[in-house]
Amino acid sequence: MSSIMPDSTGSAIKRGKPVKSQFSRSLHLFGNSLLFILSLFSLHIYGLSSGIEESLLERGLIDVKSLDSTIEVELKYADSTNFMGKAVYGNLKRCFLRPGAAMKLAEANRFLKRLRPELSLLVVDGLRPRAIQKIMWDHVKDTPMQRYVANPQWGSMHNYGCAVDITIVDSNGNRLDMGTPVDHFGPLAQIQLEGYHLKTGKLTRKQFVNRLLLRKVMTEAGFSTIPIEWWHFEAFSRKHIRETYSIVE
Ligand SMILES: [Zn+2]
Repeated sequence: MSSIMPDSTGSAIKRGKPVKSQFSRSLHLFGNSLLFILSLFSLHIYGLSSGIEESLLERGLIDVKSLDSTIEVELKYADSTNFMGKAVYGNLKRCFLRPGAAMKLAEANRFLKRLRPELSLLVVDGLRPRAIQKIMWDHVKDTPMQRYVANPQWGSMHNYGCAVDITIVDSNGNRLDMGTPVDHFGPLAQIQLEGYHLKTGKLTRKQFVNRLLLRKVMTEAGFSTIPIEWWHFEAFSRKHIRETYSIVE
């Protein structure tokens, strides 16, 4: 849109149009100025809307759906369905990962479909810039939830683009019952306590089996788990990640 203005102004001068009245000339200039301001404004908005995703692509991160369009993505921090109850991702709507991590994720989805063709992986978080990590940290600092959120000073594996939060959906888009929602900060979300929860009836056999299915396909593709969140997986060892990649600010 910004290219229209100089052209139209320039062509009017070149063609030597008849002299207009002072009033109509002022009106014309005013209209053009308004268009110019509006075009700058829309460019600004457009720049904001695409800026972060474009810069991630330029940095070599991969949009996971470009590798496998059947992987579902619904970023929990792009809307208010998260532990903070508010959207903090701005215009980041897609799941970006480092290439090696994205390829492992596509492989996990292939494993899943080989076992259960009607199911798909649903990613609810991937690359998370450190600026967002700081917002999350400030929300939980000095509360019992603090242990569930990485200190931005050291960075989460999400900040490197090497971790995913993930679940499974059926062909209607319904999430499989895993016993807790993603981001449930409590003992029932902990992998290390699943045997106990199963025995005491807090976790049903079906919920347990659903978690096992998710873990099976993710670990077969090379991801590792953490003890306290069933939904969180990391593509490489933390040592390798810190030595190989930089944090996305
Ligand atoms: Zn996570």
